[in-house]
Amino acid sequence: MTYWIVHKDDPISNELKQRLEKQIQLTLDSMNPELVVVIGGDGTFISAVHMFPNAIFFGIHTGHLGFYANYTLEEVDQLIEDMNHQSYYIEKIDVLQCKLITSQETIEEFAINEMTLITPPKTLILEVEVDGQVLETFRGTGLCISTAYGSTAYNKSLHGAVVDPNLKTLQITEIAGINSNQYRTLSSPLLLSHERCIKLETKEETEVFVTIDHLSYQLHHFNSANISLNIGRITVAYHKEPSYIQRVRRTFLK
Ligand code: NAP
Repeated sequence: MTYWIVHKDDPISNELKQRLEKQIQLTLDSMNPELVVVIGGDGTFISAVHMFPNAIFFGIHTGHLGFYANYTLEEVDQLIEDMNHQSYYIEKIDVLQCKLITSQETIEEFAINEMTLITPPKTLILEVEVDGQVLETFRGTGLCISTAYGSTAYNKSLHGAVVDPNLKTLQITEIAGINSNQYRTLSSPLLLSHERCIKLETKEETEVFVTIDHLSYQLHHFNSANISLNIGRITVAYHKEPSYIQRVRRTFLK
């Protein structure tokens, strides 16, 4: 069995990495690890998932218990034992499957938190379709499409709903939508079933910025984006079943 460690560059994470390398009795592999230990926060977890999407992830949160890490600093011995004895439970996490189409290229990426489509310096006009049916013509800074796990990230700052990940949903949230007698959009966050497909299209080629989790793209000749949910794409290990309610409470309320 092979493993790799992705860690935040801070003293706690660096020290923990050295300890784990001494105690985990598996083979280090930086290219195609079967198991990946992530030390840091949700941000570190997201970048690790983009590096090794097919691995099983063991997340240790070095701050508060985040949304993706299932082991705390006090449970490091347990994590080592779980990895050495191949004894752990797994949770499957959904991602957005995003296809970005420009006149010059097609980019396919997945997002564990969200995808945003924005044009900060000017108004973006987007035709929004769900399952091939027109929903609205959006005018404003942009749109955010998030997963349930991503609902507590950027989506929450946009006043989107916090969504229990047991609900398999896509959520569309507006970023500074214009609403007047001339322009009208839904204005509220829209939660859609996992079976729906979203299409965002410009009437003519436009320069846009697309963010996919921590990644960003500047697309000069953007035409459209297709977004759907890929159920259970990412595998995360745990020993003690995580509580979503506790995570929400510890992160935002306590
Ligand atoms: P970052 O700016 O370093 O981190 C953004 C913050 O979001 C960190 O505090 C991170 O927690 C937290 N976070 C990430 N995923 C989360 C989740 N699912 N639920 C709750 N909190 C979460 O950026 P980054 O590390 O490159 O992460 C990219 C993410 O930043 C994007 O996916 C987007 O969601 C978020 N973002 C938010 C805003 C906003 O709220 N206005 C704007 C841009 C981007 P940790 O401290 O545990 O790492």
